[in-house]
Amino acid sequence: MPTKFVVVLGSLMSGLGKGIVTSSILRILDFYGYNVLPLKFDGYLNYDCGTMNPYRHGEVFVFDDKSEVDMDFGMYERFLGKNLTGDLSITGGKVFSEIIAKERRGAYLGRDIQIVPHLTNLIINKIEGVAKRKNLDVMVIEVGGTVGDIENGYFIEAMRQLALRNKVVFVDVTYIPVMSAVGEQKTKPTQLALRSIMQAGINPDFVFCRAENGLNDETREKLALFANLPKSRIIEDCTQETLYSLPPYFMKQRFDTVLIKELGLERRKLNRKALKEWNSRLENLVRPKDKLDIAIVGKYTNLKDAYASVKEALVHAGAEVSAGINLKWIESEDLEKANLADSLKVDGIVVPGGFGNRGIEGKIKAIRYARENGIPYLGLCLGMQLMAIEYARNVCGIEGANSTEFNKNAKDKIVDIMPSQLKVKLKGATMRLGSWKCKITSKDTIAYAAYGGKYALERHRHRYEVNNRYRDILQKNGAVISGVTPDNKLVEFFEWKGSFGIGTQAHPELKSKFGHPAPLFLSFVKAAREYRSRSQ
Ligand code: GLN
Repeated sequence: MPTKFVVVLGSLMSGLGKGIVTSSILRILDFYGYNVLPLKFDGYLNYDCGTMNPYRHGEVFVFDDKSEVDMDFGMYERFLGKNLTGDLSITGGKVFSEIIAKERRGAYLGRDIQIVPHLTNLIINKIEGVAKRKNLDVMVIEVGGTVGDIENGYFIEAMRQLALRNKVVFVDVTYIPVMSAVGEQKTKPTQLALRSIMQAGINPDFVFCRAENGLNDETREKLALFANLPKSRIIEDCTQETLYSLPPYFMKQRFDTVLIKELGLERRKLNRKALKEWNSRLENLVRPKDKLDIAIVGKYTNLKDAYASVKEALVHAGAEVSAGINLKWIESEDLEKANLADSLKVDGIVVPGGFGNRGIEGKIKAIRYARENGIPYLGLCLGMQLMAIEYARNVCGIEGANSTEFNKNAKDKIVDIMPSQLKVKLKGATMRLGSWKCKITSKDTIAYAAYGGKYALERHRHRYEVNNRYRDILQKNGAVISGVTPDNKLVEFFEWKGSFGIGTQAHPELKSKFGHPAPLFLSFVKAAREYRSRSQ
């Protein structure tokens, strides 16, 4: 059977959770055993989001295949439980550069190139091509931005045309405000939004309504009328206890049955076992047996999106062992002058990835405090590099230890630019990216216990590395280099002895899924739980 499509649009404003609706649809269809993948369009003219900063864009997510993609892909992977690929990410930058390259090759000789039909056809062919290659039953396409934006208009037109030759179900995610004075749910903004979608030649098949305190029946009825839909197609989308509660919540509204019927898919049995497992993890999240305080020491802590995968990886590990994770976001610059015993009164400390030198000394202080007080520590990428610098300074007595990223003229370059990076001039997609194999050097390590074997396969995004010239002195002073690349050229895991302390040059948080937590995060959360029970 040819692939069917679900296209998720947003109306009125951003931040309504289109990504979560998309992820929930993926999860639901997977519960029925359909082969389903997401695809996302982002309207910006960047080729990918690799060169954007977290303030603009939140976290940059990385796939095994080295693609740097929108953070929504992280959510899709966490819900769907599959590792995705770069061809599922389409941006304005990609389609325009592709069409111009084609024009230069002479593919349109004699013609002026137009948004319709040339660009729209290119988009449709791309999408159909991926769907076919991956042999999908259903592809769920999220259109970034809001209907009416100038950036996504041509893509929405392409979606209208996609529906002329394929089965496409359109979903609109909208917002139903409540005027506090009258306490009444207002449908007028959505009525207008529906009209603008219809003007684009599209009639939504489902309307997901973000609303406070449930969707009134009257609201449902009104919207159904204006959307030309039966009431069963107006779906309540209120904030739930956790993000992972959403798929079962939508299923309770019979969204699964109605969607599968509308798509015209052959009927399949719901995988009750998988749904039960999902729900039992949810129960662990909502009513955990233990509670843990975990500090994330970073520099974008007022923008939690910058660390979305780290946060979720902790949640996944917590759900596995019924531990509720209470995150304490600590701005590393504040630690430079703070009383650490107050600020770091926690069961575990994470220093996540980062770039540039702001807040570095605060992070190093936090790492030292973790090591000297036996608080479980997990260092991610930059968090491992700083672990090596802290160890060099405070254990090996190398006072000037630093990274050339923060001080080009550092006396002791414990962390230095990778030789392969020296010749790199361009910025886009030039870091050490994607999945790399790591050899675990000894059985008697945190890394070996976590991965249960000799190899780890994790995703990377960095330019600097632990300087091999300092390996000996670090090890002579008790540090453990527990993981290296198979050619032994790069340090991948760094540990200290005596308490739980491990850093990794990779970003294991990027592969963590709900139901399949990242091994290092699971070990870390277990260590934090032991630490808490010991210190109580
Ligand atoms: N800035 C460091 C580097 O480029 C660490 C990067 C990261 O934490 N992702 O190597």
